[in-house]
Amino acid sequence: MSISTLYVHESVKELPRVRAVASALGLSPETIHDIHQAYARVLKDPDPVERGKQVLVLTKNKGAFLRPCPGTRKYRCCGYRILHVGTYCTMDCSYCILQAYFHPPVLQFFVNLQDLLAELKGAFSSSTIQRIGTGEFTDSLIWDPWTGLSRILIPAFADQSSCVLELKTKTADVSALMGLAHREKTLVAWSLNTPRVIETEETGTAALPARLKAAEACQEQGYPLAFHFDPMVIYEGCEEEYAAVLQQLFESVAPESIVWISLGALRFPPELKHVMDKRHPRSRLPYGELIRGKDGKMRYFKPLRIRLYRKMAAWIREAAPGTALYLCMEDDEVWEKALGWVPPRQGVKRLLDDAAMKRCGLGKGKK
Ligand code: SF4
Repeated sequence: MSISTLYVHESVKELPRVRAVASALGLSPETIHDIHQAYARVLKDPDPVERGKQVLVLTKNKGAFLRPCPGTRKYRCCGYRILHVGTYCTMDCSYCILQAYFHPPVLQFFVNLQDLLAELKGAFSSSTIQRIGTGEFTDSLIWDPWTGLSRILIPAFADQSSCVLELKTKTADVSALMGLAHREKTLVAWSLNTPRVIETEETGTAALPARLKAAEACQEQGYPLAFHFDPMVIYEGCEEEYAAVLQQLFESVAPESIVWISLGALRFPPELKHVMDKRHPRSRLPYGELIRGKDGKMRYFKPLRIRLYRKMAAWIREAAPGTALYLCMEDDEVWEKALGWVPPRQGVKRLLDDAAMKRCGLGKGKK
């Protein structure tokens, strides 16, 4: 999906960055006084969710850039922090929660990056280890061609030793990441899935070989890597296909380069089903063996999740014994039965903080 309409909020229209984004996109921005003007126009489209992917609003983040991840108290949480650089995505995964998260969804990029950098400085000056990611409300790398975001964030993180930046993506264009002195304080992460799921459910994303090739290129540049098998989809033959993905992964990158791998089975709020039925009528995801979990989200029946996680964990531990492995949004029983241990309070946070300290040199004083 490419951007066809560019709005700029009047409060930021004079910023040089606005001109740079407009010129990179080859679009003249229209000034708006209120974001609702953009919303109202997007809502006129028969498919506002799709239209929102072609409309970019350059605006100011008036709130905090750094926020705690909206994990849930019902499941094990990892203490992640989100760097809120913008919202929404140009790709179109059938299961994407962002389709129902924003009303209406629209691409927004916060151009007051000086405020963002000032806030980061505060986090860097603390001795607390922090894992910070930009890929929660958007894909981390889609912004690079127009905003150069990674080339601002990566050097900012390079010269400190308490925080690691995780750039999470389903794209394969890592050209913006090449040649930077990252000092291992940026970890590049890919969401992985089977080719079948990528082809049928992840419209507009990079194919598996392209994601792995991009990971290989980042490994060559010395970046620590991470991979997220999330959302894992359960279907006939899925175990063999996920095993094949793992095999390709370990043929592409060295296990020592991988700081962590997460596993998370498909889950979505019930209201997303209507959006999926309407926008992705060929998707079979809403019709699996799903039940409502403790957090109200639809999830696969527990024994099915445990079975798949257990197999994945065994394969991953055999190939990459030094890589931290964790489950996303699962309870004690699933941890115990799938991974063979239950993290104590703050245990997942500690596991990942330790991995970041070891591999990214956190907590060692400035380089
Ligand atoms: S890549 Fe991520 S953010 Fe983009 S549509 Fe897919 S799930 Fe949503």
